[in-house]
Amino acid sequence: MQVFGPPPLRDERSTVQGDVDGIAQGSREVGAGVCSHNSNSTRKTNGYIPLVQAQPPASDTDLLSLTPQASEARLRDWLTQRDEPGYRLEQMAARLWQRPVASWSDATELPVALRLALEQAFPLTRLELAAHQESTDGTEKFLWKLGDGEAIESVLIPEGRRRTLCISSQVGCALGCMFCATGRMGFRRNLSAAEIAGQVREIVLRRPHDKPTNVVFMGMGEPLLNWPAVATALTILNAPQGLGIGARHVTVSTVGILPALAELAQRTEQFRLAVSLHAPTSERRLDLMPIEKKYPLPDLLKALGQFERRITLEYVLIAGKNDAPEDADQLAKLALPLGALVNLLPLHPGGAPELTPSSRNTMMEFERRLKAKGVNAVLRKSRGLDISAACGQLRVEVEARGKVRTKEHAHIE
Ligand code: SAH
Ligand code: SF4
Repeated sequence: MQVFGPPPLRDERSTVQGDVDGIAQGSREVGAGVCSHNSNSTRKTNGYIPLVQAQPPASDTDLLSLTPQASEARLRDWLTQRDEPGYRLEQMAARLWQRPVASWSDATELPVALRLALEQAFPLTRLELAAHQESTDGTEKFLWKLGDGEAIESVLIPEGRRRTLCISSQVGCALGCMFCATGRMGFRRNLSAAEIAGQVREIVLRRPHDKPTNVVFMGMGEPLLNWPAVATALTILNAPQGLGIGARHVTVSTVGILPALAELAQRTEQFRLAVSLHAPTSERRLDLMPIEKKYPLPDLLKALGQFERRITLEYVLIAGKNDAPEDADQLAKLALPLGALVNLLPLHPGGAPELTPSSRNTMMEFERRLKAKGVNAVLRKSRGLDISAACGQLRVEVEARGKVRTKEHAHIE
């Protein structure tokens, strides 16, 4: 599955970036949207990797940014201090994720005084729906406005009994992949765990019986550059006292941030991993993805070889860049020993002017060649095209620290 996203927003605010290998990060572009897959032809990003990441507003009263275990402990202490009966704990904890409420005042099983006190002590983080679009094929896009005025997008994709929610992990992204609109936006800030898992919570709040069955971190941002919050969000998504979504139904997509990948590999839950490869050699990958400089392909492949769970390799087909027959052959050599599934994705047409999607024939030939070598490869078809067509035109004014202009946009495979 692939979700493509919005063209970037821009304003005058600077991104918080580090300086790697002595090269200062110069981007001053910002934006919001999901799985944004246009590119920025003007920004030179090779080798720029963020060392400093802006954090979301911190709060020790944000129960939704804690693991279910930690939030229960916090609530237990609070109840004890207030001399409330212990059985209230279960009632209150269930209202965080299992039977979520928009605000404590909706938890009508609790006495009014307790609800008021909870509202004061632990206000529940909400994502405000700023825009919503539905495709004729049932795909829905949600643009959420965050507490500080930033905006992110989630996309819900129904498929038979499955309802997959594509979620964002950061506002923008610092990694500047050539073909990606989020990269073009630059980095704004990390999302908190509440804002990450909250994207699922908001869907449940809207339609309690329509909970997403699957979650993919294929929205805006690089999840492994926001590992602490993503790690907590993974626990929330999976824990029975959280959202209770099976680990095999949760996929983290990454370009391969090796230290955090090692931490993900340590997790005992069977979360799925999708790796954005997009090129079969270091040289070609560096052309498209600046991260190649920091974590080169050979090191990434070595790490993946040690990853004991099923891996998907994502590969966007770009005319003349990575779609030659010999690219397919080289890709097969990488994918086979990993036993990886290869997801072939058409390039979103809104990319950099010099990048164009491979032709249909080239894509089919690429897939055929991989399969002929025994690789489990799938050429993805588009979904939600009607809303993606429309969303290129949709603009949502979002009040931020300044005025942020959001273009909503998504293509879905
Ligand atoms: N940062 C993570 C997750 C978000 S991007 C990552 O890169 O994996 C989710 C997926 O969308 C990635 O595989 C990414 O490479 C892909 N993508 C980005 N831009 C695209 C485009 N223009 N066309 C098709 N896929 C794109
Ligand atoms: Fe886009 Fe690359 Fe960032 Fe993923 S890592 S969101 S593809 S810029």
